[in-house]
Amino acid sequence: MADSFDLTVIGSGPGGYVAAIRAAQLGMKVAVVEKWPTFGGTCLNIGCIPSKALLHASEMFDEAGHQFKQLGIEVSPVLNLRQMLAHKDSVVNSNVTGIEFLFKKNKITAFRGTGSIPAAGRVLVTPESGHGQTIESRNIIVATGSVPTSLPSIAVDEVNVVSSTGALAFKEVPKRLLVIGGGIIGLELGSVWSRLGAKVTVVEFLDRILPGLDSEAGRQMQRTLQKQGIEFRLSSKVTGVEQRPDGTLTARVEPAQGGEALLIDADKVLVAVGRKPFTEGLGLEIAGVALDERGRIRIDHEFKTNVPGIFAIGDVVAGPMLAHKAMDEGHAVAEIIAGQKPHVNYALVPSVMYTSPEVAWIGKSEDELKAEGKEYKVGKFPFTANGRAKAMLATAGYVKILADVTTDRVLGAQIIAKNAGELLHEIAVLMEFSGAAEDLGRTMHAHPTMSEAIKEAALMAGDGAIHI
Ligand code: FAD
Ligand code: NAD
Repeated sequence: MADSFDLTVIGSGPGGYVAAIRAAQLGMKVAVVEKWPTFGGTCLNIGCIPSKALLHASEMFDEAGHQFKQLGIEVSPVLNLRQMLAHKDSVVNSNVTGIEFLFKKNKITAFRGTGSIPAAGRVLVTPESGHGQTIESRNIIVATGSVPTSLPSIAVDEVNVVSSTGALAFKEVPKRLLVIGGGIIGLELGSVWSRLGAKVTVVEFLDRILPGLDSEAGRQMQRTLQKQGIEFRLSSKVTGVEQRPDGTLTARVEPAQGGEALLIDADKVLVAVGRKPFTEGLGLEIAGVALDERGRIRIDHEFKTNVPGIFAIGDVVAGPMLAHKAMDEGHAVAEIIAGQKPHVNYALVPSVMYTSPEVAWIGKSEDELKAEGKEYKVGKFPFTANGRAKAMLATAGYVKILADVTTDRVLGAQIIAKNAGELLHEIAVLMEFSGAAEDLGRTMHAHPTMSEAIKEAALMAGDGAIHI
C-alpha cells in the first residue's frame, strides 16, 4: 500500500523546507520530495549562501589590501582561491545538513527523486535510477523554485559562459569578466571577482542598474562600483558570444535599440538576466494546474491553485524571487492548511544587495511615490556624520526615510551602508506597526552605532537632526 501523508511538499528550498517544518510543528504527517542530492534548494546550494560566503571573503581580502594600512595594520594579502572556495563549500555543507537535521527532528519523511502530480492527492517520486513510488497525500505544496533565464543566442556551458552557478566556482580569477545584466546577481558576483582582481564589465539593457531600486540609490551605487573598478555599459545588449581557438571569448555588444556593434573580449561571461519559474517534469498539465502568462503557477491569496488540495509558493509563483518571501509563504501556507488565518504583507518585503557598501530597501521608493502623486517628505542622513562609521572607515552611504507629509507615517526607506541589511529591520518593524518617522526619531538609540543614522534621518524628516 502507498505511504500516506497529510502534506507532501515538492522542493526543499526556503519555501518548501519552511512549509514542511511548520506543518510538522502543527501536527501534520509530512513528506518532502527533493530531486537534488542535498536539501535547501537554490538558496542554500547555489544562491544566497555560497554567494554571501564569497562576498564576505572577497570583501575581507579587499579590506586587508586597501583599508588595513589606514588602521595601522601592515599586511600584503595573498589570495588562496582554493581555500576561499573550500570555505564557501563548507558553509553550504553546514547549512544543507542543517536542513536534514531539522527534517529528522520534525519527523518529516524525505523522498529523493523528481516529484510529479498524476492527480490531486497523489505524488509520484521518480529517483534518478530505480523504480518510481507513489505517495498519497491529502495536500500537496509545489515549491519547485526557479532557474536562470537564458538568452537565445548565447549558450551557457557553466565553464566559460556561465550562469550564477558557474560564477560561484571559477577555478581561477578570470582576467576579464563580462557580466550580462546589471541586476543583483550581476553586481554581487561582479563585485566578488572584481575584488579578487578581475576587470569586470557589466552590460545592462536599461539606462540604469538595479531596476526596482530607488533611482537615487541606483545612481549612487553605480558611481561607487565604478570607483571600485567595475565598468558599466548601459542601454546595451549582448547579441552573441564567440569563442576563439585560444579560448578567448568575444562578445558583440550593441545599443539596446540596435545600431553599430562593439566587440569586447573576455575570459569568462556571466549571464545574469533574471530567473524564470521552474515547473518542468511536474506534470501540471496532467493534474490540470493553471499557469499564468509568464509560466508561474497561478494561485489565490491562500496559495491555492485552481486544483483543490494543490498549493504553490516561492519563486514558482508571482512576486519577488527572494528567499525570505518564499519562507514567509511557506510558513503561511502550512498554517492555512492547518485551518489558521496567517497573512503575508507583500507591501513590506525587504531587499538587500550584499555589495560593499550594502544596499537595503523596503516599502516605496521616491520614484514610486512621485508616480503615485503622493505628498511625501524626505529625511536623509549621510554616514560621513556618524561617529561609529568614521571609526570603522565605513562612511560611504546614507539612510533615506520617506514619510507621509500629513500623517508622518513611514512609507519607505533605503539604506546604503556597511551592514545595511542588518540596519534595515528596525524600520521594517516600525512600518509593520504603521509607525511614524517621529516614533523612530524619539526612540533612544545606543551610541555610537550605525543605527543612529536611522534616528537622525527620521529626525530630518521632522524638524531637524542634531549631528548635521
Ligand atoms: P528553490 O530554492 O529554487 O528550491 C526549489 C527546489 O525544488 C530545488 O531544490 C529543486 O531541486 C527542487 N525541485 C524542483 N523541481 C522538483 C521536482 N519536480 N521534484 C523534486 N524536487 C524538485 N534570495 C535572497 O532572498 N537573498 C539572497 O541573498 C539571494 N541570493 C541569491 C544568489 C544567487 C546566486 C541566486 C541564484 C539566488 C539568490 N536568491 C537570494 C534567490 C533565492 O535563492 C530564491 O528566491 C529562493 O531560493 C527561492 O526559494 P524556493 O523555495 O521558491 O525555490
Ligand atoms: P534581476 O532581474 O535582478 O536583474 C537582471 C538584469 O538584467 C536587469 O537589470 C535587466 O534589465 C537586465 N537584462 C535583462 N535582459 C538583458 C539583456 N538581454 N542584456 C542586458 N541586460 C539584460 O535578475 P538577476 O540579477 O539575474 O537575479 C535573479 C533573481 O535572484 C532576482 O529576482 C533576485 O531578486 C534574486 N537574487 C537576490 C539576491 C539578493 O536578495 N541579495 C541576490 C541574488 C539574486
